[in-house]
Amino acid sequence: MLRIFYPNECADSAYVIDYKALYEQGYKGLLFDIDNTLVEHGANADERAVNLIKDLRDIGFKICFISNNHEERVKRFNKDIKAKYIYDANKPLKKSYYKALKLMGTKPSNTIFVGDQLFTDVWGAKRAGLKSFFVKPIGPEKEIQIVIKRYLERVVLYFYRKEKRYYKI
Ligand SMILES: [Mg+2]
Repeated sequence: MLRIFYPNECADSAYVIDYKALYEQGYKGLLFDIDNTLVEHGANADERAVNLIKDLRDIGFKICFISNNHEERVKRFNKDIKAKYIYDANKPLKKSYYKALKLMGTKPSNTIFVGDQLFTDVWGAKRAGLKSFFVKPIGPEKEIQIVIKRYLERVVLYFYRKEKRYYKI
């Protein structure tokens, strides 16, 4: 039952994923959550984030941000990056993921999602048919509902890791 929440891949950070290898495997679109995935919650894009997106574009990727946060926050993050973006995305609903694919001109089968929350980010990406990377959050959690979600995530991840060891899923 918990399997519906399992990510395809886990990574320590959005900054350590081997994107070049993914591109060579045929992936052409990258869809990123922003808060706690690329920068701390609410922070502006820093040099590391700007450089990552620049490098990814140089590889050939189409980039889009997908955030449940409001327009001002997403626009502010995107100011120097100028990628496509979707705010108030209502993840885990599929609609915004499909919208993002349309903006990038990619398909679920050649697009990767990267995010830090299982029950919004990863679940939504999975429902939309995208490959998902679940990354460790960058900053500390402040909102209580996210703190609670983190406990539940740990339960899912416990079983995910256990099964992965036994069945190599
Ligand atoms: Mg996030």
